[in-house]
Amino acid sequence: MNYNSTRDKSKVVSAAQAIAQGISDEGGLFVPQSLPKYTLDDIKALSETDYRGRAKKIFADFLGDFTEQEINESVDAAYTAEKFGSDDPAPISYIESGNTKMSVLELWHGPTCAFKDMALQILPHLLTKSVKKVYSGKEAVILVATSGDTGKAALEGFKDVDGTKIMVFYPVNGVSPMQKRQMATQKGNNVSVAAIEGNFDDAQTGVKKIFTNADIKAKLAENNMLFSSANSINWGRLLPQVVYYFSAYCDMLKEGKIALGDKINVVVPTGNFGNILASYYAMNMGLPIKKFICASNSNNVLTDFIKTGTYDKKRKFYTTISPSMDILVSSNLERLLYHLTDGNAEKIAGWMKQLSENGEYTVDEDVKAKLGELFYGGYCDDENTKKTIGDMYKNENYLCDTHTAVAVNVYQQYVEETNDTTAAVIASTASPYKFAKSVLEAVSDKELPDDEFAMTEFLSAETKTPVPAPLASLKDAEVRFTLECSVDAMPKTVLDGLGIN
Ligand SMILES: *Cc1c(COP(=O)(O)O)cnc(C)c1O
Repeated sequence: MNYNSTRDKSKVVSAAQAIAQGISDEGGLFVPQSLPKYTLDDIKALSETDYRGRAKKIFADFLGDFTEQEINESVDAAYTAEKFGSDDPAPISYIESGNTKMSVLELWHGPTCAFKDMALQILPHLLTKSVKKVYSGKEAVILVATSGDTGKAALEGFKDVDGTKIMVFYPVNGVSPMQKRQMATQKGNNVSVAAIEGNFDDAQTGVKKIFTNADIKAKLAENNMLFSSANSINWGRLLPQVVYYFSAYCDMLKEGKIALGDKINVVVPTGNFGNILASYYAMNMGLPIKKFICASNSNNVLTDFIKTGTYDKKRKFYTTISPSMDILVSSNLERLLYHLTDGNAEKIAGWMKQLSENGEYTVDEDVKAKLGELFYGGYCDDENTKKTIGDMYKNENYLCDTHTAVAVNVYQQYVEETNDTTAAVIASTASPYKFAKSVLEAVSDKELPDDEFAMTEFLSAETKTPVPAPLASLKDAEVRFTLECSVDAMPKTVLDGLGIN
């Protein structure tokens, strides 16, 4: 199976090339030319194996230039009980409340307590194998822009991986204290971290510019290095996310929550549009999904887009208590639009140009209609996010983080508006302990301690749930990275960091 660029149809690359390169030269994203199709019998067969078995089947169907052994090795190394706390890396908590049935798909049992681990524990395996296939002997330099969780998950995935270096940029005031501490204390000999004076969109734009800067690329080439990406612009990030939607369906089937062939709704707290896009791919491969519910926080650019067909990033940027969704330019939307226009790369290139030059674009009526048929967009502000956390805890005895709460709230709005009570999978994207302060404020009236670690212990005592070990151990970890730089200084920071300035 080969991959095209969303902005230039003449670019055709193998899976290994798409993963090694991360982004196409002209700025487009790689998308599969076709999708494997699974029948209900295939889905039934998947349900009879475990998470790793499901992953192996799906990877094999997408990664044509990987051997079976390479895929098996990668999957077996990534999804271990040691890393994910059990043999099921993506367990479901079932919550039935009133007439709604929520299957809360907990994607945060990995080493950094956020769903990014689901992809970033396997990406280094796929990426180093890809680089070996297409750029044999080169060192891969992974540049990451993060709104908090990707950075840490990528650092943890790539630390001390031979043939790679990784550099992470995060917005100086845009991550939670726990997220900052996770990154600043990162271990490993090939890692570096810098805070930038700007928001996530500035960091992401800065990284994309470095990727496509010919001078910098030439400098890397002279030194036998090449850039790659661990952001969800990389196909190797999206593919692992397709697996857990199939796996959730299989688990619900086995638990008797649905019958084979029943449709489900999918609810995703959305930022860069990677997670929800993975569920869209799953549907196009045959997974019975009725509606994609796209949940945003006050940065509700996607809610408006789904309603109006106009994507307008010229709006106030809010720093919220769900920081991993504080995003106004959702990169992976480009892939969805490519598919909704039946692969009209020229059109996509035009819209993306308008977005970067004028800050907005409007899609055609037929694209808008398709979008509205498949997607529901809604948003939830900080106050309602906290209220939802409190209600979920009080009424359902379920403690969820701020991002998951946004999803639950928007799902409730959806049911209210439509009366559609189809069984819903809610993607739960982070451990509540990553956002202890906001979660505590939502579930307790007591006066809170001001230290982040005292807060996690307080939350644990209040709710009688354990602090995840990877977060508890940060308390005594040494701070290694304190660099802050301007957006303009990012290229220099990269070259300095690589020692090739
Ligand atoms: C990254 C992230 C999101 C947003 O996911 P996208 O794939 O970027 O849409 C939501 N919640 C958490 C906790 C995250 O880390």
